[in-house]
Amino acid sequence: MSSAVAAEEVNGDELVPAARAVRAKVRAIHQRRCSELIDTMRGNDEQTLSEWLKFSCFKGSGHWLAGSGGHFYGRFAFRSSTEYRAALRLRLLLPLASSDVVHGGAVLCKCGKTIDLSTNPLHQIDCARSQWYWIQRHNATRDLLRDFLKDHSNVHQYKIVLEPEVTASGVVEPVHTTGMQMPARRAGAISREHRHGGGVTRADVGRFSVHNKQYFDVAVVDPTAVSYRVAEQEHLGGDVGDGMTAAAAIEGGNAGGVLSGRDRATADSAAVLARETAKRAEYRPVLGDMVDNTDRLVIFVVEATGSLSTTSARILRGLATESRDRVVMSRFVAQVGAITARYNAQLTLAWEQHMVDRAF
Ligand SMILES: [Zn+2]
Repeated sequence: MSSAVAAEEVNGDELVPAARAVRAKVRAIHQRRCSELIDTMRGNDEQTLSEWLKFSCFKGSGHWLAGSGGHFYGRFAFRSSTEYRAALRLRLLLPLASSDVVHGGAVLCKCGKTIDLSTNPLHQIDCARSQWYWIQRHNATRDLLRDFLKDHSNVHQYKIVLEPEVTASGVVEPVHTTGMQMPARRAGAISREHRHGGGVTRADVGRFSVHNKQYFDVAVVDPTAVSYRVAEQEHLGGDVGDGMTAAAAIEGGNAGGVLSGRDRATADSAAVLARETAKRAEYRPVLGDMVDNTDRLVIFVVEATGSLSTTSARILRGLATESRDRVVMSRFVAQVGAITARYNAQLTLAWEQHMVDRAF
């Protein structure tokens, strides 16, 4: 009896490293295939889609694919199968569902620009007329972060505050400690003018203790936006040196198993870096050099593909390690993946609908 139990334990112990080794091999195969596909697409002048694929490759990027509903997503679940299908199409690099109506080639977009869909097939993600969806995507990400901070901060020590006023003083004045502060605000009030209007700067979320005020500013950026593409090439060219190919960068890649097409030194896209720099500049008049200290200010950037910036991931991991719940991080990644996939799907459907309406 006891020997049978002992045998099982030995088998169990051996099984775990064996399963890990298999998983690592499977991951390496996927990474290589993905890297080759990215290179091939780039060679075929499919620059935008190859970039979208590159930035869609990270650990946990497929969590939201588990299904169109379910408790894992919480309130961020897809609302309809149409939405889920549109998100899937983006994932499969089939950006426009209505290719029978919207042919490749130049179209006049509702933003007033003439867009060549063959070279710019993801225009709807950046289109100025998609702004309403950007705001929803931002606010949902902010709410997810707020909930995470609430769940993983000691309630006796911290207050989590929505849209707090940013002040140079890190000490909490009595007026700020009377429960959850929910300042009156207009719907979707995230414009720069509002956030920095009237001499008042507001962050998205505050994590306050009696000793410190930590501010979080949330931003969702599209790393494939045309404006970032040149910067991204220079960024990669600068950091992946000595004839290191993209494939080699992946092979040599990340011990954490992050599939990225980006090595560790270039883990953040040019879009993330540019947004972080711009955001710090917005806060500098109030916070001065404290903008560089993540104990005071966290620029929480998420790429439109659902990937967390290195800073965002580091901050969350720090909070999650104090938790006993081992799926904390993967749940966050799944939910932020669902948020970005869902609103990208919604804005794609709205864009298509507009083009269809115009065609008749
Ligand atoms: Zn447009």
